[in-house]
Amino acid sequence: MSEVKAYGAADSKADLKEIKIERRAIKPRDVKIKITYCGVCHSDIHTVRNDWGGSKYPVVPGHEIIGKVLEIGNEVENVKVGDTVGVGCMVDSCRECEPCKNDLEQFCEKGMVGTYNGKDKHLGGHTYGGYSEEVVVDNYYVLRVPKNLDENAVAPLLCAGITTFSPLNHWKVSKGDKVGVIGLGGLGHMGIKFAHAMGAHVVMITTSPGKAEDAKRLGADEVLISKDADAMKKHANSFDFLLNTVPVGHDINPYISLLKIDATMCMVGAVEPLEAVHGGSLIMGRKNVAGSLIGGIKETQEMLDFCGEHNIVSDIEMIDMNTINEAYERVVNGDVKYRFVIDMESLRN
Ligand code: NAP
Ligand code: ZN
Ligand code: ZN
Repeated sequence: MSEVKAYGAADSKADLKEIKIERRAIKPRDVKIKITYCGVCHSDIHTVRNDWGGSKYPVVPGHEIIGKVLEIGNEVENVKVGDTVGVGCMVDSCRECEPCKNDLEQFCEKGMVGTYNGKDKHLGGHTYGGYSEEVVVDNYYVLRVPKNLDENAVAPLLCAGITTFSPLNHWKVSKGDKVGVIGLGGLGHMGIKFAHAMGAHVVMITTSPGKAEDAKRLGADEVLISKDADAMKKHANSFDFLLNTVPVGHDINPYISLLKIDATMCMVGAVEPLEAVHGGSLIMGRKNVAGSLIGGIKETQEMLDFCGEHNIVSDIEMIDMNTINEAYERVVNGDVKYRFVIDMESLRN
């Protein structure tokens, strides 16, 4: 075992501050990673603040991890010492159940182990995430990073990237489809980039008129202000697919009205009750509301390779570890373009 520095919160009201955590000694299939960058996901904040219940303290968040391989166990073949690698939202699953066998480890019937706040099978207690100097992970959950991409801007692909890529892929978004991305934050900005790269006609659906120019720069063909009822009416019944990244419970009825017959809105943002859905709005048009959780390991690697081919990374603002509490406030206030990434060197100094 080794002790490393990390940033954690002692309870749901506490600021994050420096603490010490243990990392296990590597086992034959393990990879020890020196963390170089870690993205800041809104889920980190939800977990620190116990918005979803069940948070275990101290919470050490971070599931958009990039780092260098320091050491490998003697059965590891997929990476070697010195490689740049990524770790996303999962560090284990049973690998035997139907979902696991079908590359859907995120839906493991025994429960996937989250990178943070999961059950630590090795040391007991719960897992600690990427706001730390090092991490030890089973090689199966370690991803290869395309060499042509900037490492720091790759970090957010490990959560924001796969969470938006997977539903666009699953619902087979393709050339000519009219796709709406709802909410221009960390997830939303990746949603625009992917939908654009897949050839869709992309409409950014936002509450913030000030983000219109950016949305276009990121690849949106049109911008729709969701608070503008007339504009929303003009787009009624016209979308092939909607990706909803809004991070809180809200009224989804106005968005359902935007869907074509048989079309789907996939929810990825709000992991909490939504306002009541009017049954008629689904019945009239055989419309679908669905959900999606990150993506499996195989698909996460496919997403990274897709990003390598299409030169896609996240738009980031780099921060030092000791400014994380201010960064959280800014995320909650929608004031980040479009993902904070922590330079983990700042924790080592
Ligand atoms: P974020 O950076 O804070 O972006 C969310 C965006 O949603 C905001 O920028 C804002 O965009 C819009 N928004 C915020 N509050 C709103 C409200 N009350 N009504 C309407 N729109 C609102 O968050 P994120 O990191 O992208 O994460 C989004 C959510 O996804 C979080 O809840 C996170 O926990 C969840 N998540 C889910 C998964 C999954 O696997 N399903 C994975 C990762 C994260 P505009 O200004 O453009 O309106
Ligand atoms: Zn996340
Ligand atoms: Zn399983």
